[in-house]
Amino acid sequence: MPKPPMVLFVTSEMFPFSKSGGLGDVMGALPLALHKMGVPVAVVTPFYGRLSTRDFPLRLVTEHCPVNYPWPGVQAEIYQADYHGLPVYFVARAEYFDRRMYYNTHNGDYFDNCERFIFFCRAVVQWAEMLERPVAVAAANDWQTALVPAYIHYLRQEKPFWAETKTTMTIHNLAFQGRFAFRLFHHTGLPWDAWHMDRAEFFGDLNLLKAGISLADAVTTVSPSYAREILGPRFGYGMEGILTKRQAHLHGILNGADYQVWDPMRDKYITATYSAEDLEGKKLCKRAMIRELFMSDLLEDKPILGFIGRLRRQKGIDLLIEILPQLMKREIGVVILGEGNLRTEAKLMDYMEIYQGRLSVQVGYTEDLAHIIQAGSDIFLMPSRYEPCGLTQMYALRYGTPPVATAVGGLMDTIAPYPSPAATGFVFPRPEPDLFLRTIETALSVWEDKKAWAAMVKRAMTQTFTWEGAASEYLELFRSLGAEI
Ligand code: ADP
Repeated sequence: MPKPPMVLFVTSEMFPFSKSGGLGDVMGALPLALHKMGVPVAVVTPFYGRLSTRDFPLRLVTEHCPVNYPWPGVQAEIYQADYHGLPVYFVARAEYFDRRMYYNTHNGDYFDNCERFIFFCRAVVQWAEMLERPVAVAAANDWQTALVPAYIHYLRQEKPFWAETKTTMTIHNLAFQGRFAFRLFHHTGLPWDAWHMDRAEFFGDLNLLKAGISLADAVTTVSPSYAREILGPRFGYGMEGILTKRQAHLHGILNGADYQVWDPMRDKYITATYSAEDLEGKKLCKRAMIRELFMSDLLEDKPILGFIGRLRRQKGIDLLIEILPQLMKREIGVVILGEGNLRTEAKLMDYMEIYQGRLSVQVGYTEDLAHIIQAGSDIFLMPSRYEPCGLTQMYALRYGTPPVATAVGGLMDTIAPYPSPAATGFVFPRPEPDLFLRTIETALSVWEDKKAWAAMVKRAMTQTFTWEGAASEYLELFRSLGAEI
């Protein structure tokens, strides 16, 4: 019997195996949502040294996937895990992926990131051919995978296997483009036809994301607002030109939140579960967080502001640092969880000394702490300069922790701003410290009004951003491209 055509997701991270941010969460949820709708799906991702395989054992499928890169004869090993019935394939090549981090260390990007992901994308194409299962759609995510739609674009003409395959290129963060020196263009194996300013060339450099954007059948990004924003220079990061050319094929599909993992009614990391109807557990979570982070007991009756995310300018951590001295004049607590550059981390550590007991800075990447802070805080801070979708604010809403956020990207699509009667959070128009501080002050004054706050918390907790909805939109898009699934 012929195997049914499938959707093949290609990604550089996938929760729970690997995750450095929202991309990992999305890839842990979207393929599964489609699988549950009965769509045949598989995922291909790298086999990193720091892969978490505790709950899903891996088995070796082949040691001989011929990648022939960087020289003839080089092979990849392919492993497979069964993720709730969904096959996940891992491309292994120790010299490229068996490292402490995924893409970079404190000292910057790995010097061979281009080669690493050329290898990965070539392996994906080879492995798909070896599987001998028709690929109805190859869905690439971010620059690390962007060569896949580019390869398929050219392979369609050469190999019947790819003739019917449709491709999508999803942008999770346009700031990361995979821009490398021209000489690496030769490594990609793309034909000269691709060396063009409407394809892989970008101001004389190789730009992998641009190759994907220009050569995929459709381009998607992770919220409707971001899909509009990236057409202009402020958010386009130099890609506004090519994106405008592809505008008719550009779609903004809002991510969902995975409520199997992020729901205070069933969260396995928090001290007590709770719901919109009964918030007693949230108080217990707050008390437990105060103890765990060695904060002052006095904070039990005061608002605690939480921040979770990469300690980068994108996330506006510098804005938070700038207003901290002003902010800490109030009777509040602040909890920050994140990883970033050493200077930012050191600065925050200095402040932690000054505001002992009221400011807790947790440097590192700790999944359980992210849940504990979502549940234990009163207000969530998200002063992002840009935000393609943002997941942490969706989680904050569900955990009854109204966000204070910039009016950008997915934050606009998910937060109903105060003072609307339907408000679920607070937004400020531009990433400026004064506006941020003033908006936090507004949030603190609403917090003082117990009745108004309780109503807002309840509204926030009943917001739902499901993956089922997002998955249906992706499916509709795939079918509109002519994919037979
Ligand atoms: P981005 O993808 O831009 O980093 P998102 O808000 O879309 O931002 O997703 C971030 C995800 O990464 C969330 O699941 C968040 O809880 C998690 N996260 C970010 N930083 C940390 C950290 N230091 N420790 C644990 N989880 C983190």
